[in-house]
Amino acid sequence: MQNTLWGQCLVVLAALCAGVQPVQAQSFVDGSFDPAVPTLEATVGHAPGTRITSPDETYAYLKALTAAAPERTRMVQYATSWEGRPLYYLILSSPANIARLDAIRADLANIAAGRASNGAALPVTWLAYGVHGNEISSTDAALMTAYHLLSAQGDARAAKIMAETIVVIDPMQNPDGRARFVNNFLASSGIAPAADRQAAEHDEPWPSGRVNHYMFDLNRDWFTLSQPETRGKVAAIRSWNPVVVVDLHEMGGDETYFFSPAAQPFNPNLSAAQIRAYELIGRANAAAFDARGEPYFTREVYDLFYPGYGDTWNAHQGAIGSTYEQGSARGLVFERRDGTRLTYADGVRNHFTASLATAGAVADNPQRFLTDFAQYRAANASGAAGRGTYVIDLSKRRWNAESLGRRLAAQGITVLRRDGPVSACAKSYPLGFLAVPQAQPAARLVKSLLDRDTPLPADFLAEQERRRSQDLPHELYDVTAWSVGLMAGAEVTLCNAAASGEAITGDTPIAARPEGAGAFGVAVPWSDSGQARLVALALREGIEARVTDKAFTKDGRAFPRGTVVFPAGSNRPEKMARLAALVREVGAHSVALDSGWVDSGPNLGSESFVRLTLPRVAIAWDDGISQLSAGAMRYVLERRLGLPVTPIRTQRLARADLADYDVLLVPEGEPAAVLGEAGQRAIREFVRRGGVLVAVGDSLETFSGGDAPMLAVKREAALGREPAADEKSKDADLAEAAEIATDADYREAIKDQQALPDTLPGALLNVVAERDHFLSAGYDDGAVVLATGTQIFTPLGRDVGMNVLRFAAPGNLIASGYVWDENRRQLAYKPYLMAQQQGRGLVIGFAHDPSTRAYLDGLDLLIANAVLIAPSRVR
Ligand SMILES: [Zn+2]
Repeated sequence: MQNTLWGQCLVVLAALCAGVQPVQAQSFVDGSFDPAVPTLEATVGHAPGTRITSPDETYAYLKALTAAAPERTRMVQYATSWEGRPLYYLILSSPANIARLDAIRADLANIAAGRASNGAALPVTWLAYGVHGNEISSTDAALMTAYHLLSAQGDARAAKIMAETIVVIDPMQNPDGRARFVNNFLASSGIAPAADRQAAEHDEPWPSGRVNHYMFDLNRDWFTLSQPETRGKVAAIRSWNPVVVVDLHEMGGDETYFFSPAAQPFNPNLSAAQIRAYELIGRANAAAFDARGEPYFTREVYDLFYPGYGDTWNAHQGAIGSTYEQGSARGLVFERRDGTRLTYADGVRNHFTASLATAGAVADNPQRFLTDFAQYRAANASGAAGRGTYVIDLSKRRWNAESLGRRLAAQGITVLRRDGPVSACAKSYPLGFLAVPQAQPAARLVKSLLDRDTPLPADFLAEQERRRSQDLPHELYDVTAWSVGLMAGAEVTLCNAAASGEAITGDTPIAARPEGAGAFGVAVPWSDSGQARLVALALREGIEARVTDKAFTKDGRAFPRGTVVFPAGSNRPEKMARLAALVREVGAHSVALDSGWVDSGPNLGSESFVRLTLPRVAIAWDDGISQLSAGAMRYVLERRLGLPVTPIRTQRLARADLADYDVLLVPEGEPAAVLGEAGQRAIREFVRRGGVLVAVGDSLETFSGGDAPMLAVKREAALGREPAADEKSKDADLAEAAEIATDADYREAIKDQQALPDTLPGALLNVVAERDHFLSAGYDDGAVVLATGTQIFTPLGRDVGMNVLRFAAPGNLIASGYVWDENRRQLAYKPYLMAQQQGRGLVIGFAHDPSTRAYLDGLDLLIANAVLIAPSRVR
């Protein structure tokens, strides 16, 4: 805690201190500074660390710096947020380097492609700030780093960084989240900054500034690319091929500072040279912090396993990707539990220190970083990670498979397309395939994303099992499975042959698949996300549709249950023309029908076909609801399926007029207390009158209690516990006498009988479908779902409802990832998707969130069954 007094001076007594600090000395280090480069204070009115710089002030300062030093900067807009805010990065280097920037970039692209350098390249250090919008100090540190590199005079290190390297500063990766934090901070602050962590200015309302507009954690989105902020960022990084990428965050205010090397487990696809470079950068940071007497830690908490973080994803491209974390003042001043005060300025200064130390480490070793990167990419390109091909079959979940190929291509991965019918590796592909060669520069990213499993290191696992045997929590930070083929519901095979085909890009449109001839109507088989999107968009335009819960065949062609038919007899010709246009826009699959006659199964006039109308969908919003779950569910419905959603605050649900809606979604959370009895009564009444309630994860408990539960399931305790017996002993004044004879008996005696199952970090599990329920249409062969957390529910009794999807038998349960053995045994056969009638309506329960991070698009049809189809079936 150096300079605490100075920091408080800045914050609390800013007015009295004015004049003590030289106006130009705003860089957090001593020295002289070029007066031609504007200070933050001269531009926006406050000195660094004294206020939380808002997004608008950040833009103003970036522009002022660029205007003052055009020969040493480039400012590039790379994305626009959902709420319309621009995202920029700032390039900094010497005038000579900026003058030949295009040649440098072109040579970096050469190296990244595995080709020899022409000598023009310089290493790029990419510094990214504020991906979590409430981790505030990082953006101000970004501005100070830029100021220092442009204005410091006589600082040999800054001069070397500008001469030997290119620095790219991405100062604000989540402007919507930062704006939300700053607005709340300003709205709740008073005459002086409050150090009390309970003060409203430190305590954000729902949703927090951590997440973006759709409440996504942007530091989990790197390979899913669901959000515009991520898509733009990944394209920008791919165009510069940085050798070092740092993502600067904040953690709890009682913590100090964290930099690399990261904690175990490491993803096995990291190279030995990368692990050595983490050590080099770590030591450079340590030297800079030691010089200031500032405490820090490494190798704990923040791991490098999940490839969707900013650090690991970039490491999978060959960069040295790191996470840095600063204890957060979550405002201007924060009282720590040990009695010391952390100021905003302290945090800004630490991130500034780490930024310069990291850029300095690259400037001290420019050739080493460039050579390491070149060798990494070239070795992969020539087959270091294998010479086979991942083949993605286009006849299974075609639209999702095509969409997966585009997401991979957007990450700089070569994806080749072959139209069908075609054979490869002794298998026939009637609709063709996408081929992803193993021999390519991003081979390790390819392997991590497309392999079915990425194993955890054995010694790490052994240590976790030891901890669990002592009732200590495990140390896994995130999910253990992310195989993108499984998550898309696609079929991916690794084949030992070389790939061929035409390369696709991230923007290549998905071609429609119109089939058949005839003017009776158009059938849309219920087979993938594109089909569901087409149906939702058509219903929004008032095109009449019917849906069947039974399969049928016509002219030798099989139509699965769930197929939607748009009859020409109910739609004017303009509507049918509009439908054809939508098929092309979406890239969907449609079959024109010549009559209503079928070979087998129900005819269009059968009662198996019901009229499908656009449902009015409300989602429970605000306190008591998980912002991540609510945001992901709304995103999947609105942006992927095209279905608008009305959020209603949980506090209002008791007095809301739910008769205006067909579906009420209650995402994960613990809404019972906020809803109160009145809210729960209103929801029960909504269902009795014909509404569809869709509850997710922990929220199921809100509707599964009491004498007449809306969903008659119970949450299970951990295996081997006896929660009822424990209740009894609590009531008695004296405990029953007992001898403890062995160590095992002692362990048993202190066991928490109420304990929940050990928490699952996240694995992909197989579920099996009950084929006689419309909710499983599209999933005759089961599905792969993500299970996380502690919730395991008892199955619904056959007398009250149906377990539409249940977890597979213990031997078939795990599709990918690591599952504690007792969880595997306990989860088998337990419900994943449940349905129970209630009055005229229906209660649908998901034991785990199917929309998590929007990355299981293979479950989109399931969500569509519950939200888009169920209201028409209930009616
Ligand atoms: Zn963070």
